[in-house]
Amino acid sequence: MPRYDYRCRACGYVWEATHGASERPAECPSCESQDFERLITSAPTVAGGIMTHAGDGYRATQEQLRSKWAEETPKLRKKLRDKLGDRVDQLPTLNHNYDE
Ligand SMILES: [Zn+2]
Repeated sequence: MPRYDYRCRACGYVWEATHGASERPAECPSCESQDFERLITSAPTVAGGIMTHAGDGYRATQEQLRSKWAEETPKLRKKLRDKLGDRVDQLPTLNHNYDE
């Protein structure tokens, strides 16, 4: 079953519901209002090294961004090393945690 995020317009409560594509929750679990909207969620994608996102769907946490960065940085350093050879080791670095 797909999962959907909803936001109540009356009280601002945001919740997640699992149900069929043609169904919707009856009411806000918090205030029982029926005035709510479905949030469009989508995972952020990386295209050409640039983080892109679609509108309100952007919900990457700092944690996710950090792990993405930790994942990308060694690749960038490798790319630099391929290009510059050993000279890359003479470049100043901001973070020394990514030794290869
Ligand atoms: Zn509500």
